Amino acid sequence: MLEAQRRNYASLDPCVHCGFCLPACPTYLVTGDEGHSPRGRIVLMRALERGEMSPHDPALLEHLDACLGCRGCEPVCPSGVGYGSGLEAAREQIFEARGLSPMARAVLGVFQHRAVWRPLFALARTLRATGLPQLLSGRSRFGFGLGMLAASSEQRLNGAAGRPSSNSPSQTGRPGNYLPTPGAAPLPRPTVALFRGCVMNALFSHVHAATRRTLEVNGYQVVEVRGQACCGALHEHAGNAGAARSLAEANVAVLSDQADFIAVNSAGCGALLKEYGRLLGSPTAAKMAAKVRDISELLAERGPRAGAPIGLEVAYDAPCHLQHAQRVHQAPLALLGAVPDLRLQILPGSDRCCGSAGIYSVLRPQMARAVLDDKIASFAAAQPRPDLIVTGNPGCLMQIGAGLRAAGLPIGVAHPVELLDLSYEEAGYYEVSGER
Ligand code: SF4
Ligand code: SF4
Repeated sequence: MLEAQRRNYASLDPCVHCGFCLPACPTYLVTGDEGHSPRGRIVLMRALERGEMSPHDPALLEHLDACLGCRGCEPVCPSGVGYGSGLEAAREQIFEARGLSPMARAVLGVFQHRAVWRPLFALARTLRATGLPQLLSGRSRFGFGLGMLAASSEQRLNGAAGRPSSNSPSQTGRPGNYLPTPGAAPLPRPTVALFRGCVMNALFSHVHAATRRTLEVNGYQVVEVRGQACCGALHEHAGNAGAARSLAEANVAVLSDQADFIAVNSAGCGALLKEYGRLLGSPTAAKMAAKVRDISELLAERGPRAGAPIGLEVAYDAPCHLQHAQRVHQAPLALLGAVPDLRLQILPGSDRCCGSAGIYSVLRPQMARAVLDDKIASFAAAQPRPDLIVTGNPGCLMQIGAGLRAAGLPIGVAHPVELLDLSYEEAGYYEVSGER
């Protein structure tokens, strides 16, 4: 066993089996099965580490595969157990012994090569532009998949301005110019490289455009860096550390010297980018990782500058990889706080996983849907009913958006930065060319 794996397993040492983590675990809440709880999984992982269970044992595989990797069990643990690190070690050991399932291999293979995912996502965008996913989304597995694609569209941001919503897949706009507060000394303008990623770049280019504009208004200078790869988070979560490392190396090679900060608007990508130093074990990777910030952190550092009211009722849903992995809690709220008079709700269960969890919703759709159902029920019961659910991760946007459509709820989904962008446009800081 590698030293890094041993260290990761050691993060499970403080567990005293108290069970305080059980009510925070979505898979335990759905099944009531101790084997699907953090405490049960820790016992299994320790048995695997000690060689008392085989990495081919069906019960071990069932319980560990069913873990969302959401790390909702970490903040509630009074002993400070590092569950995520232990899970990483166990999944790596299982991967070394038996590889990936054919389905996981196929999905992860797509994300490993730009030459494969780019044309596939181009096809998805073409399908999305036909409007069929919006029309045919529903509760069946096929309908839910179409709902996920439909949810990646820019939508329902028609607030105070009363603009019609649009499903336009891309929107470039004119970048906003930094408008210093009258009378205030001008702040330095740090440079920021935008991490483009794969899903974000292919299906959420409207969020990238909003990210650029809002950063510029808040005094950052955004630079484009070519040659970026997928962050590798999906591969790392599946235990394929080798593939994750090779993608991380590609990103470190092009991003490490490019800017003062690296802005990430996908919580899952940001969580791993911040860990590149540990993953690659090189000073260059550690230096690059230290520059990584979630978009909400960069904007919160500048206030952010207030926009104009947009007249929307929204509920914020915290992505697991932002709150538990990156431990970023206040910055997204500060970002939303820059939209005057925004009616913001934090609903029960908003800190719980939506069931997306990387490729989990593809590999274990039934459990993913069961986990999502509780969240959708909370949205359905909200008074007043929100116009939008805002969350800063593409998988969550697609999973929650599809769930809302399947439940027939007239609620949209958006990234928090899209709201700030609309608010800035309302304030006249810039005009977005084309339609919303
Ligand atoms: S992980 Fe923490 S909360 Fe859960 S059983 Fe172990 S010590 Fe208790
Ligand atoms: S990571 Fe999430 S699903 Fe896995 S044991 Fe912890 S709370 Fe449960």
